[in-house]
Amino acid sequence: MIPYKHEPFTDFSVEKNRTDYLEGLKTVEAYLGQDYPLIIGGERITTEDKIISFNPANKEELVGRVSKSNKELAEKAMQAADEAFKTWRKVKPEVRADVLLRAAAIVRRRKHEFSALLTKEAGKPWNEADADTAEAIDFMEYYARQMLRLKDGMPVESRPGEDNRYDYIPLGVGVVISPWNFAFAIMAGTAVAAMVAGNTVLLKPASTTPVVAYKFIEVLEEAGMPAGVVNFIPGPGSEVGDYLVDHPNTRFISFTGSKEVGLRIAERSSKVNEGQIWMKRLIAEMGGKNTMVVDKEADLELAAQSIVKSAFGFSGQKCSAGSRAVIVEDVYDTVLERVIELTKELTIGDPTDQSNYMGPVIDGNSYNKIMSYIEIGKEEGRLVAGGDGDDSKGFFVNPTVFADLDPQARIMQEEIFGPVVGLMKAKDFDHALEIANNTEYGLTGGVITNNRANLEKAREDFHVGNLYFNRGCTGAIVGYQSFGGFNMSGTDSKAGGPDYIVLHMQAKTTSEMY
Ligand code: NAD
Repeated sequence: MIPYKHEPFTDFSVEKNRTDYLEGLKTVEAYLGQDYPLIIGGERITTEDKIISFNPANKEELVGRVSKSNKELAEKAMQAADEAFKTWRKVKPEVRADVLLRAAAIVRRRKHEFSALLTKEAGKPWNEADADTAEAIDFMEYYARQMLRLKDGMPVESRPGEDNRYDYIPLGVGVVISPWNFAFAIMAGTAVAAMVAGNTVLLKPASTTPVVAYKFIEVLEEAGMPAGVVNFIPGPGSEVGDYLVDHPNTRFISFTGSKEVGLRIAERSSKVNEGQIWMKRLIAEMGGKNTMVVDKEADLELAAQSIVKSAFGFSGQKCSAGSRAVIVEDVYDTVLERVIELTKELTIGDPTDQSNYMGPVIDGNSYNKIMSYIEIGKEEGRLVAGGDGDDSKGFFVNPTVFADLDPQARIMQEEIFGPVVGLMKAKDFDHALEIANNTEYGLTGGVITNNRANLEKAREDFHVGNLYFNRGCTGAIVGYQSFGGFNMSGTDSKAGGPDYIVLHMQAKTTSEMY
């Protein structure tokens, strides 16, 4: 097998690539507005009640109507997954890995269609959509290979007349709950990691982006996934999510989303319910409040570019987004000025138009939440760019910069999940690091400096799961920058990392006397 290499990003300055993306868009436009069923044990089930997925750049445009599961259907899916586990766990790891490799190949052939669907369903500009699709491919390619490394277990010692083995076996039925912001990559990555390890899966995608998840299950089926291995059960988190998290047959939960929901799942999943014979395992990847630190001895243009890109890529709706910048006072004014200039150059509008750097935010709730944070920011700091939005057609929030904030300001402490960045001054580099560590989160961080001693200081003391030097703090690549955070950012289960698959397995020791 060829070694793993990440999927290259598409260069949209090449005419052929632009035409291919537009072809993908046409394919998607031809199927907009269709109905999609649940998939339980391979069976298509249509419900009366539907989740309506619409285009956040154009509220009038229906992306799809997706059947909605409820407790009864979640129970049916649990039974299907339990049944499928009996056989899937015995399927050879090589065969399970082959399903992922073939699925990756299918997605690669339909790459621009998937990206265009992300543009329509999640409001992703071309390059952001392309990166999401590339990451989904990477997760499949990478996890398939990781599983093959684990298939013979780990070496342990044996003595004369005795043979000891250490093997990894699957856990059981896993509930995979995914967010909308990497509607393809995280949904697919968390589902296939669980599945390639020999578990069966109940996949509950985010309610704003269920169509891309449905299309992905079709790909898995085409790639040879047996019925019941990944079941597609979109539905309200509060009803279906709670039911499955509480279910005694749930062996593990793989959650990616907000801190609030993650903590609720952590609490509920620790309770032992009637008939339950294990402690549930929880993988939880949650929010962030990520900081770019700028030293006085630094490339200030790089600093401004990195702050702007980390804050406004995909409208700040990345868990890794840099929503704060702490700048040493000697260079604060210069960096601030340049950040304002760069922010004012950004274009915003319909993401199907390639010239727009930013598209909409995901929905009305998100729009209102971001706008209310902007009002808070106006009280707490100095508004120097943006500060307004327009939700008449879609949910557009202009890239917004606040300056001169206090380290304890709400804008500097709470995850906004939108295109808002707060800047503040630090006395010196040590002070900047101290501020950078002052939230309850610990997901990503960036440091811009040419001072080697300060880089080393940051390496030791900047307490985040993903730390980046002399670049922005978003854009982790599977197999290169394994991704996951500390503290309230989650269980530091590094997605796209060398030990991620093991989290979905348990080790069994067998000792035989000859
Ligand atoms: P969210 O927490 O609102 O929803 C995530 C998922 O949980 C959705 O599928 C939702 O339906 C489901 N859910 C809601 N209530 C539930 C319940 N009671 N039980 C079970 N499931 C329930 O998050 P979101 O708005 O979809 O995503 C944005 C958040 O995700 C941000 O906080 C972001 O930082 C975080 N995120 C983290 C990472 C990471 O790797 N650390 C990656 C992406 C997003």
